[in-house]
Amino acid sequence: MKTYAIAAIPGDGIGTEVVAAGIEVLVAIAKRDGGFAFKIDHFDWGGEYCKKHGRMMPENGRDQIRKHDAILFGSAGHPDIPDHITLWGLRLAICQPFDQYANVRPTRVLPGITSPLRNVNGGELDWVIVRENSEGEYAGVGGRVHQGSPLEAATDVAMFTRAGVERIMRFAFRLARSRPRKLLTVVTKSNAQRHAMVMWDEIATQIAAEFRDVTWDKMLVDAMTMRMVMRPETIDTVVATNLHADILSDLAAALAGSLGIAPTANLNPERTFPSMFEPIHGSAFDIMGKGVANPIGTFWSAVMMLDHLGEKNAADRLMKAIERVTADKRFHTPDLGGKARTADVTAGVVDAIQGANT
Ligand code: NAD
Ligand code: MN
Repeated sequence: MKTYAIAAIPGDGIGTEVVAAGIEVLVAIAKRDGGFAFKIDHFDWGGEYCKKHGRMMPENGRDQIRKHDAILFGSAGHPDIPDHITLWGLRLAICQPFDQYANVRPTRVLPGITSPLRNVNGGELDWVIVRENSEGEYAGVGGRVHQGSPLEAATDVAMFTRAGVERIMRFAFRLARSRPRKLLTVVTKSNAQRHAMVMWDEIATQIAAEFRDVTWDKMLVDAMTMRMVMRPETIDTVVATNLHADILSDLAAALAGSLGIAPTANLNPERTFPSMFEPIHGSAFDIMGKGVANPIGTFWSAVMMLDHLGEKNAADRLMKAIERVTADKRFHTPDLGGKARTADVTAGVVDAIQGANT
């Protein structure tokens, strides 16, 4: 029987709560499927680890997970440590060296969940946002001088490479082609940012020529926020820069009912390195330790992990189990207006996995 080695990195805050729930569900789905198993290795990296060891993960941390089949991640973010330290010290320290350049974020309004948009109750909102995940505004290029003096200056340089833009455009066009509507929106800001964003647009046009069967359009990021709210049904697949897609995908998650539902895959499409799966939300300091975090975003990320591993049947079965549970308001956590706890939702999904119809 095939056994997949999974590196579980819960991180901090509700990351620990939702990853524990995610593992329960993964174990249940493997058992139900019968064709594969998981070997799960736990890594206690993150803010608490940093307080003891002075860094978010060990120096050889990446070597410890390089050979795993996939990574299940919770959240990098600790109340006592500045966000740029936790993010760069853990999440980006994995994503960037492992060249997980395609960040894929599906959005749908799941059964039983209400979108804050009037007129939207299901099929009108079925998007996938592709976020460039290796460069752009998060390239880490920049500096700070004369700290504390009136002459202090700081820069964050958004760096785009032709190779980086070509590969994300190709990935997005290919993904758009694989979906029924074959529709791609390229998000840009080439009116104000007249160098890199203009190159971004030019490369989009060049790559589009390789995908004549995909209909595509181009949209300025500010106008895109309006379109997401006013005309959600006109959108299918979206590609945007690291920063733009970061922001748009939180909006997308909220429009689908809650940030607690939304999943992410950080893919290394060439499979030279393991890919990483995580809910898009963070540590949620306001609810951590209370047992009420919505684990659906992590479960849906587990679906994406199963898909990536090639376990299509198990992925479909888990998604069906998730939808059965969201359809039942008794399983709604407080972010969805309900009273359920993380453990209730988890038990509900495990039950649904074991049920005859999934
Ligand atoms: P957040 O996602 O942690 O929380 C935003 C709001 O959404 C909060 O009110 C929170 O309670 C709610 N929320 C989020 N996930 C939820 C869930 N599963 N169930 C119910 N409610 C949920 O964003 P933030 O407050 O901006 O960030 C908090 C910390 O997390 C910061 O340190 C930040 O850097 C970090 N963070 C990490 C990641 C990551 O590792 N991928 C992503 C975002 C934020
Ligand atoms: Mn974000």
